[in-house]
Formats: sequence, C-alpha cells, structure tokens
Amino acid sequence: MPLSSRTLWLDFSIRKAKVYRRVGITAIRGFNDILPEEAELWRHIEEESFMVFSSYGFSEIKAPIVEKTELFSRSIGETTDIVEKEMYTFLDRHGDSLTLRPEGTAPVVRAYIEHKLYESPVTKLYYAGPMFRYERPQKGRYRQFYQIGAEVLGDGSPQADAEALGMLMGLFDRIGLEGAMLQINSLGCPDCRPAYKKKLYAFLLDRKESLCDNCKRRIDANPLRALDCKNPGCVEATKDAPSIIESLCADCADHFRKVQARLERLGIKASINPRMVRGLDYYTKTTFEITASGLGSQNAVAAGGRYDGLVNELGGPRTPCFGFAMGVERLALLLKENGVFKKKPLSVFIALGENAEMKGMELLKGWRQKGLKIAEDFSGGSLKSRMKRADKAGARYVLILGEDELGHGEITVKDMATAGQERVKWEFVADRIAP
Ligand code: ATP
Ligand code: MG
Repeated sequence: MPLSSRTLWLDFSIRKAKVYRRVGITAIRGFNDILPEEAELWRHIEEESFMVFSSYGFSEIKAPIVEKTELFSRSIGETTDIVEKEMYTFLDRHGDSLTLRPEGTAPVVRAYIEHKLYESPVTKLYYAGPMFRYERPQKGRYRQFYQIGAEVLGDGSPQADAEALGMLMGLFDRIGLEGAMLQINSLGCPDCRPAYKKKLYAFLLDRKESLCDNCKRRIDANPLRALDCKNPGCVEATKDAPSIIESLCADCADHFRKVQARLERLGIKASINPRMVRGLDYYTKTTFEITASGLGSQNAVAAGGRYDGLVNELGGPRTPCFGFAMGVERLALLLKENGVFKKKPLSVFIALGENAEMKGMELLKGWRQKGLKIAEDFSGGSLKSRMKRADKAGARYVLILGEDELGHGEITVKDMATAGQERVKWEFVADRIAP
C-alpha cells in the first residue's frame, strides 16, 4: 500500500473513533429523531394539511408546549388514563406544577378564552406540533409524537361536524392514504349521559370481577372508561354493554341523525360504533375515529369529536366546538409503505475546470430561484469519482458543465434512472429536470 493512502486510512479511522466516543448518549426511548428523508414526508403531510385546512377557512394557532398542569387535569378529566398515568408533569424552579402538553385541544381552548377569540362568531383554528404521553413505546406509539389538529369553535350545528369530517377524509384522499375507515358515535350531553352512566354502572357492577384493577377502581367515578379499556378481560366483559345511542335525548339523537345524513350526502361511509367513548372526558355528542390498515393494533390515524362544554368549563362563554387531531408518525408510516409520496428529484451539479465553476455559480443561482433542488459538487477529483458520489447522494440527474458545454451555452444532463444523457441549453434545464 503506498504511504499516502495508508496515511489517509489511518486518519479516517481516527476520525471515526472520535465520532464513536461522542455517540455515547442516545435519544430517550419513545423520543425519535426524524431524519431528513422522513422529515420531507412529514413536511409534505403538513403542507397538504395546512392547504386543505385554509381552504376551509381555518387559520393557524401556535400554543406553547408547556401549560399549567391544572389545564389538562380539568379538561381531559382526572380519571382518564392520560391524566392518571401518562402526563409528563414536573415542578419548575418556582415550585409550580407544569405539564408537557399531552394533546392540543385544551391549550387551544385556553388561548381562545384568554385572548377573547370568542368575540368573533365562529373561530376555525389549526395547529401542529409535538405532544407528550408516557405510554409504552411500540410501532406507531411513542412518548413524543406529532399531531396536526383543527378546532371549530362557536358552531354547534351537525353541519360543522360533517364538514370537518369531510375535510379530513378529503385530505386523506388527497395525500393518498389507503383504506381510511370512519367510525362514529355519540356520547350524548349532560342531559342524557347521566342516565346512561347509571345503566352502564349497573351492567359493570355485575361483571366487576372480570374487569382489570384500573377499571374496577374507576367504575364509580367514570364507568365509561371501561368501554375504552384495551385489556382483553374488559373488552370481553363489556361486549354486550348497553348502547349509549339508545340512551340519547331527543336533541342528541337528532344531531346524530343529521350528522349521518350529511356524511351520506358528502359520499362518506361511516360505521357506527357505540362502544367508542374516546380517552378524554370532554367529549359530548359526536365522537369519531379514523383507522387505516397496516399499523397493527395502533391503527387510529385521526380522532376527535364535539366538546360543547369545555370552553365554559374552563371559564369562557358557552361555546359549542368540534375538533380532531391526527397522528403524523402513523400517517408517515402508512404513506412510506404505500409509496405514493414521491420526493422532489435531486440534481447534482459538477463543474469541470475553473471557468465552468465560475459560470456554474451563476447558473445554479437562477435554477434554484426557479425552485429546482440542486446540490453542487465543487470538490474536484475525477469525473468518475464525482459521479459515484452523486449517485450515493441519491441524485436523479447529474448536470455536467465542461469546457465544451460552456462554449455552447449548454450542459450535459445525465439521467441516473435511465443512464441516458443529453446536451440541454441552459435556458431549458429547468423544464428538463423539473419534477
Ligand atoms: P390510541 O387509541 O391509538 O391510543 P388516542 O385515542 O390516545 O389513540 P387521541 O388522543 O385521540 O388518540 O390522538 C389522536 C391521534 O394521535 C391518534 O389517532 C393517533 O394517530 C395519534 N396518537 C395518539 N397517541 C399517540 C402516541 N403515543 N404515539 C403516536 N401517535 C399517537
Ligand atoms: Mg391513547
């Protein structure tokens, strides 16, 4: 081995060793790095969502990721899994109890009240960002996860529910999510739910021995939780539980019927699942969940419903609302598997010689202004090694500017997918390599 390449090899190994030493600290389980390739898909999901939401008149709101603990315990409910065992709660240096938000609705409602957004008749808001729950990490379930959500505040009509569901199903269709299935239910209101709770309580009392400890303990305070429990014993014991739909008051039953009629008009299939109570206590009337196959048991990609009492409960005026959140990790997993999302093609620019480099900078500036994605390779070396590098970087096209091309106002475009190449006039490069 010649001395120069030996030195190079040694140098390389030392650098590698240094890197390994630094990697001693890893991410916390359930908290993920989203690497560039994945992040591009996430951005695509976000951009499509924001575009669809704004076409329905929604505007973005950015709330903080930390709130006073009380906001969540009061809104989500003291006897829910989230509040009992999933929140990241800590005391700050002043001794105040703070919580990393486990969901996005309560912060939006807090901001809505605090900034008197209720002064306009209907407020439509969307948000995106990380949520935190201390759950058992597994495929599609993490401790930090990313939600995109939307809330309609100030509209109690069944039309609002159907429109929001139509918007969500339309979005899924647009981004190419396959097999999205909508399930709906109604949880009634403070007029009719107490009677149902009593009925369910009596039913559960007879089967108390088959319930898990958690459900046994909560049976008095919150019998509905047993219907949401994933413990096989509880699922079996509540199989024939009384249906909440049969206990709805006239107003809730009418609302539910109207939501269904409107979904039908929108061409959206919905199956009724009277067991679906959701994991948060603030829901009233319509609740829903959208599932997709290919995620194993973590198959819910979006969920939400109506919460007509929450704004008032948190100190604002009586304001009927409807909202939902979707899980970006789960959507990204599904879209990656079905291969519908195509990344913007990458080109790599190679200049041969200093003149080509100088002109190249000018050309690149113009092409990038047109939105082309071009990385440059000004590293020198042989054309062969530079082509190899471009291939490794995942280039779809390699643009080669040599002396001859320079003289003709052209560039060689090599298509890495077909291995074909052609000379293209500078002004037509954008048309040739655009996605
Ligand atoms: P699940 O039944 O899967 O636990 P959930 O009822 O707790 O969901 P919501 O609180 O309604 O879910 O949140 C809406 C969406 O956010 C879910 O449908 C899912 O896509 C996503 N989501 C919820 N929890 C997690 C998590 N721990 N990791 C990843 N995504 C999540
Ligand atoms: Mg959950």
